[in-house]
Amino acid sequence: MDEEHSFRDSITTVNEKGGRNWLYPIKPKGSYYNKRKVVNAILLICLFIGPFIKVGGQPFFLFNFLERKFILFGVVFWPLDFSLFVLAMITAIVFVVLFTVIFGRIWCGWICPQTIFMEMVFRRIEYWIEGDSRKQKKLNNQQWGTEKIRKKGLKFFAFYLISFLIANVFLAYIIGSDALLEIITDHPKNHVNGLISIFIFSSIFYWVFAWFMEQVCIIACPYGRLQGVMIDKNTIVVAYDYIRGEKRGRLNRKEKERILGDCVDCNQCVEVCPTGIDIRNGTQLECINCTACMDVCDNVMEKTQFPKGLISYTSEKNIKNGETKIFNNRVKAYSLVLSLLVSLLVFFMFNRTAIDTTILRAKGQIYQEQELTVSNLYTFNLVNKTMFKAEVNFKILSHKGEIEYIGPKEIVVNQQDIYKGTMFIYLLTDQLSSVKQELTIGVYKGNELIEEVETNFLGPNKNY
Ligand code: SF4
Ligand code: SF4
Repeated sequence: MDEEHSFRDSITTVNEKGGRNWLYPIKPKGSYYNKRKVVNAILLICLFIGPFIKVGGQPFFLFNFLERKFILFGVVFWPLDFSLFVLAMITAIVFVVLFTVIFGRIWCGWICPQTIFMEMVFRRIEYWIEGDSRKQKKLNNQQWGTEKIRKKGLKFFAFYLISFLIANVFLAYIIGSDALLEIITDHPKNHVNGLISIFIFSSIFYWVFAWFMEQVCIIACPYGRLQGVMIDKNTIVVAYDYIRGEKRGRLNRKEKERILGDCVDCNQCVEVCPTGIDIRNGTQLECINCTACMDVCDNVMEKTQFPKGLISYTSEKNIKNGETKIFNNRVKAYSLVLSLLVSLLVFFMFNRTAIDTTILRAKGQIYQEQELTVSNLYTFNLVNKTMFKAEVNFKILSHKGEIEYIGPKEIVVNQQDIYKGTMFIYLLTDQLSSVKQELTIGVYKGNELIEEVETNFLGPNKNY
């Protein structure tokens, strides 16, 4: 690779010997950082209260992989709705792709929980305990003594405490807030698995935020890896205006008129970068669009009395030709696909049955003959996806016959619940034309027919 692009041969967190290169970014300051603080504080509050909000007794969000129950914005997705859930996920992914094509990695800088926790929580605590970049470096290089033990100990305690809190919230999203509160308040011996899970999650979060840090974005995040295929010259990204900035060079106060570009080569944009890159080399996979370099460069521009915005949200095309074509062919194609997916999703959501019914002949049972009738035994499953209790009954639609429930005569399915039952179906013998009959059963909520379910009915062979 030529010298101009040699920075692409290595990553900033790995040194030439393959060891870890620890980064000590300076503390960002500026208007974008302040706006991010406000946005991130709101998002953190939403994240922490999310699993505790309930609608109709159900959590607003739940991702219970163990029981295959998912709740998004209060809408419950049962295993039977798996295709709908997958469609919702695909729609979300296409939305993120479309958003990225137009606005680049705004998600990473402003919304991603990893960035929010890393830059707005853990990094700020680190600045508070150990001081800014230079002091952190000095502390790490100094011998162990009272000051180092005190600061490192305090940092470990604070980091682990926050990791523990995150682990609890994370678990609440999976098992629900009620189950989490039970683990916390009940006797520990009744919840050994739950407590082990909390400990494991806390340790993983601690490891991520105290040790792995920016490498999540640089190495591990699949979204970051996909940037190369999603962004193009029209995408709005954090970019350095090389037309204005080059040729870079130190500011010479004695000069009457600056003959070089506006970049005074102060290196501040590199020193503030949490992933350690030099944005002046152009758009790079490591850039999480955190805006820290925009702020620091604006501060430098203010001091040097050059116009702000040498590093700004802009597109490559805008830097080069002063124009950005946002609604290009790629964006049009993604928008079309997204519109189709959203339409499909809305259609399926509105046509989703409120109560899903399965009626099956009981396993291993054949028919029983009475004087004038033949009976079959059935098991049935009712899944009530609504927020209301439902009184349900069955009627045979295709034949003359009767239903006898085993157990309660009234079937009441609680909201967001499953009801399992057993019943006999009796058909008059003269109704049976073959050994196996197709049977249609109507599912009624009160007097309203809500679904027709097909099953089969076995009878004697009349040829003998
Ligand atoms: S902060 Fe601005 S002026 Fe300083 S090196 Fe970076 S781009 Fe140049
Ligand atoms: S280059 Fe700028 S926007 Fe990108 S990660 Fe570094 S500081 Fe943040």
